[in-house]
Amino acid sequence: MQLGERGFFLAGMERHEGEVIEIRSPFDQSVIGTVRQADRTHALDAVTRLHGASAAVRALPAWRRKEILEHVAHAIREKREQLTAIIVAEAGKPVKAARGEVDRAIFTFTIAAEEAVRQGGEVLPLDLMPGNEGRWGMVRRFPSGPVLAITPFNFPLNLVAHKLAPAIAAGCPVLLKPAPQTPFSSLALAELIYAAGWPADALSVLPLSVEDTGFLVQDEDRLKVLSFTGSARVGWELKQKAGKKRVLLELGGNAAAIVHSDWGDIAGAAQACVTGAMSYAGQSCISVQRVYVERAIFHRFVEAAVKHAEALVVGDPAEEKTDIGPVIRPSDADRIQSWLREAEDAGATVLTGGTCAGSLIPPTLLTGTRSPMKVLDEEVFAPVMAIERYDDFDAALAEVNRSRYGLQAGLFTRDAGRIFEAYQTLEVGGLIVGVAPTWRLDPMPYGGVRDSGLGREGLRYAIEEMTELRLLVMALD
Ligand code: NAD
Repeated sequence: MQLGERGFFLAGMERHEGEVIEIRSPFDQSVIGTVRQADRTHALDAVTRLHGASAAVRALPAWRRKEILEHVAHAIREKREQLTAIIVAEAGKPVKAARGEVDRAIFTFTIAAEEAVRQGGEVLPLDLMPGNEGRWGMVRRFPSGPVLAITPFNFPLNLVAHKLAPAIAAGCPVLLKPAPQTPFSSLALAELIYAAGWPADALSVLPLSVEDTGFLVQDEDRLKVLSFTGSARVGWELKQKAGKKRVLLELGGNAAAIVHSDWGDIAGAAQACVTGAMSYAGQSCISVQRVYVERAIFHRFVEAAVKHAEALVVGDPAEEKTDIGPVIRPSDADRIQSWLREAEDAGATVLTGGTCAGSLIPPTLLTGTRSPMKVLDEEVFAPVMAIERYDDFDAALAEVNRSRYGLQAGLFTRDAGRIFEAYQTLEVGGLIVGVAPTWRLDPMPYGGVRDSGLGREGLRYAIEEMTELRLLVMALD
């Protein structure tokens, strides 16, 4: 599929100027289209426009912000097939999963529309000490001002929606720097947002070099919030540079699940974990990477996991039957292959998969992994999952915690005591019981601890990150 020659959006105008950047298909490396890279002058112009638009978007009434967000949701629904095709072409995401992402983006804008009219506040009693009789206060949130949003390649529409929809709901202008591999989805979304009536000056979508992005983070004080989704390395580096900006970081992980024998449906748990590990070739921040299975059910679990993994169809992302497409870059396939060899050389056993064909990596299951193998300790970001056994539940919890990451963890048990012990013990942003930790519903609070990030997304939580509390004290008698 050809995506044509696109410019970038500076305050509502598509500009065909600046360096031409070729975008390649992750599946066959063919050029699928071009975009223009904006430069520092464009970026500064965009920030000046955002700054100028701040007062106007702050003054937009809640009903109008809701209406704009609803229009965008409706427009995405109307363009469902075109947006799906863009995601398939630029991200190499299998068409079934790409369609699911578009549906999630509709949901994200729909929930943001509801949140736009739900932003209340609190009345505070302040007659709490003698001499303060008759005093009271109120507190509500005000938009923080222009947001700099930086997004990764793996959900090029819905993760962009998770930046733009809460910014609109909160009343904040926003400058989006999309991932270099996947700019077309965000340009298509921007068009829908302008058409829905969001002020042109209050949104720019600029493919920028990392140097110019870093410059905005470090030197542009008119940007008040940095909302970053991407790798831990880049996220924490940018936080160091961000100065007085409020910083939200949604970063990587190596999610683990525990499967206890009391769960009963061992084959169901195996299928859930394999699906959670392999979807979009494992390129999700909450892909299942490590599974700890109680010894008594280990062999049954492995047998079911291998059977399910081997039934998945690897191939062209444009075909309806495909479950697993390519990884995003050939260099990632090389990296993954070398991590698998490292694990095998150090004693791990490949249960199925293991041999890459170009950018296509078959579902790969391993056992006998241990620290410091990279397939266990680092974020593998590939259809690779390690299955290990445990005797003692506390030891399994300790294994899950033995990670520098902490995004979400999964647990398969029916025992309330174990669930609450895990909830208290695991250092993660969310514990998911009964389904794989890859499960995410867009309105829920989402984010990590440790190296996995700072702050939370999930519409109303993202709105909180983009707004500041302001207090009004009444002492009028
Ligand atoms: P990445 O960190 O390489 O890039 C993310 C964004 O940062 C891109 O727009 C990129 O151009 C930009 N960038 C890269 N280096 C930069 C620099 N030095 N200065 C300024 N900007 C820079 O990540 P990626 O490969 O696009 O995405 C995969 C990563 O994102 C994985 O680690 C994954 O776990 C993470 N992720 C996290 C979440 C979450 O919600 N927690 C969601 C999706 C992806």
